[in-house]
Amino acid sequence: MFPPIRLDEERDENGEITKQGIDYYLKPMNCPMHILVYRERARSDRDLPMRLYENGTVYRYELSGALHGLTRVRGFTQDDSHLFVTFDQLEDEASSVLEFVLSMLRDFGLTEFELELSMRDDEKSKWIGDEEHWAVATDALRRVAQASGLELTEVAGEAAFYGPKIDLKTKDALGRTWQLSTVELDFNLPERFELEYTGPDGSKHRPVMIHRALFGSIERFFAILLEHYAGAFPVWLSPVQVVGIPVAEEYGDYLEDIITRLKVEGVRAEADHSDDRMQKKIRTHTTQKVPIQLIAGEQDRAAGAVSFRFRDGTQRNGVPVDEAVRLIRAAVEHKTLVNTAEDLA
Ligand code: ZN
Repeated sequence: MFPPIRLDEERDENGEITKQGIDYYLKPMNCPMHILVYRERARSDRDLPMRLYENGTVYRYELSGALHGLTRVRGFTQDDSHLFVTFDQLEDEASSVLEFVLSMLRDFGLTEFELELSMRDDEKSKWIGDEEHWAVATDALRRVAQASGLELTEVAGEAAFYGPKIDLKTKDALGRTWQLSTVELDFNLPERFELEYTGPDGSKHRPVMIHRALFGSIERFFAILLEHYAGAFPVWLSPVQVVGIPVAEEYGDYLEDIITRLKVEGVRAEADHSDDRMQKKIRTHTTQKVPIQLIAGEQDRAAGAVSFRFRDGTQRNGVPVDEAVRLIRAAVEHKTLVNTAEDLA
């Protein structure tokens, strides 16, 4: 999609090439690299399913008018996998991929999903491969999709020429639909690259390839999360999870000890020892959408406690430090969305 980058070429004073350069290309997809890994040595059915994964940076020349925020960019990162399977393994593999995708997206707090099954065109010139393979694979994907219990739309003629696929769409908090994950079967690339494995019968067979992306583009997924949460992430996703604010400078050391303890526990915590007044600090970190502000003054210090303040301004005062640490760790561990005092169980 982009012109080659020629490096190491040398020319004399007349402009004649005296040393051939090498052309480097920006890759628009990761599939061929994974295929090269597969082809690196002979494979047998015992190697399958073979699953290769990469956070692959890819470049696509989108028209400048089509570029948009983080959702459509020219360079992005795909969480890209290629699964090489036998025909018999196809259904199980697709099923575990779908299960994996759903559990992962639910971890991120997305709850509304629907599936789309893209099938081949009726017209023979628009697809390649064996009619029987298409039928078996499409039926397998359909059973996998139906078993998930999610709403399923079947679209004829939407599949690529090389195989059927399932797309997973999600709705964000604003009700907008986003296409995320794809499970796409491919009969073509294994053919074109002459991929083989030796079966139990001792003869050569061709594997099927599954292109699998969970997030799709990590940048785009991040944009969707930002929109979904309007920046107010669950605790485990917040860049700063806890900020400590002393009521006055003299409580700074006491609070710093609590923050240090949280850090030791793996919590992303920091204390605000700036010159700003307490109210200003609270405003700043509320605007930053830090989920948990810990405040300490005379009463807290005397009791070995600390006070919580949440995004909506609610508070929980005088929580013993051990209990505070336990609550925060639990909120991280359970991926809790903490916006108000009641969210912290
Ligand atoms: Zn691929």
